[in-house]
Amino acid sequence: MATTNNISSIDIHNLSFIKSNKNEPLLVLNNYVYKRNKTTAKRKYWVCVIRGCQVYVHTTLSNEYAGGGTDLHSHAPNPELVQVKKVRQKMKERALNEVTLIGMIYEEEIAKSSMTRSALAIFPTNSEIYQGVAKARRKAAPELPQSCFFTIPDIYKSTIDGKRFLLYDGSPIRRERILLFGNDDQLDLLFDSHTVFMDGTFSKAPHNFCQIYIIHAVNFDICKFDMCLWPINDQKVDRVQTDICRTETNRISTCDLSTNTISWKNVSESNVRTNNNCEGYHNRMNCRLQRNHPNMWLLLNFLQKEEKRATSMMIQCTSGASKKKDQRTAAIQNRIDAL
Ligand SMILES: [Zn+2]
Repeated sequence: MATTNNISSIDIHNLSFIKSNKNEPLLVLNNYVYKRNKTTAKRKYWVCVIRGCQVYVHTTLSNEYAGGGTDLHSHAPNPELVQVKKVRQKMKERALNEVTLIGMIYEEEIAKSSMTRSALAIFPTNSEIYQGVAKARRKAAPELPQSCFFTIPDIYKSTIDGKRFLLYDGSPIRRERILLFGNDDQLDLLFDSHTVFMDGTFSKAPHNFCQIYIIHAVNFDICKFDMCLWPINDQKVDRVQTDICRTETNRISTCDLSTNTISWKNVSESNVRTNNNCEGYHNRMNCRLQRNHPNMWLLLNFLQKEEKRATSMMIQCTSGASKKKDQRTAAIQNRIDAL
């Protein structure tokens, strides 16, 4: 069915771009979809994706409308298809950039979208979309390691801002490996802190590793900053703690921080009576990772984002930001202090 589509109906503000299933760019103008036909020194030429329909749109190399799209199409526009493609693309982008479960991304994006009933009717179900999105996620990440001895890709050795992130990578004991992550500002904060919490979690450790051990440096009264490391499997907790102390010592000398000393104290010598800070962070990990034993790359991705968050919090607290204490929490803390 041909539709009336003269030059007066062209609204270049409706011009947008989406990605095809093969990750090729597609141009969308007035609910018609165009694929790139050829590119010259000054122009990109886009042709309607419907086979046999020879309507062209021209854009500049920076994807600004330059002409075309005013001829009659041999078919009706398909706004539902455009909506479906946009929502699918959003889901795929989120799956590649976040550690959120694919099923949850699907539900959230469906809830957020303003798709019409017709578009929803042709939208694939979660089970139909899952395999493709999961494959894209697997393809975007390096191959999963089969043991604890693997080469860490460079993108995970540095922070999102490109600074040093992998602080220590060693095998103090044969067939065992310890990785230590954090940034230099967090190290400074750690050595400036009078109170340090340390706690481990087994359920969030990736395969081939035994435990994630987290050091919380309490600073700015309320804020804590985190460093994460995880020792390899087959270790008992007491040995893990010994290893961490040894690793700390190595790192201190490596980082020329040997003038700083940390006196390791038992919690019984401290006025802190609860480990709520540690448990709270475990809860945060549960919410963010949403699964036990995530794969290595998902975990490293999570750690990089946590580093970014900690850095942001540090800047905010340094500039005077503070957290209002909850009255109920303050009352409980007062009772604990009075014990
Ligand atoms: Zn067409």
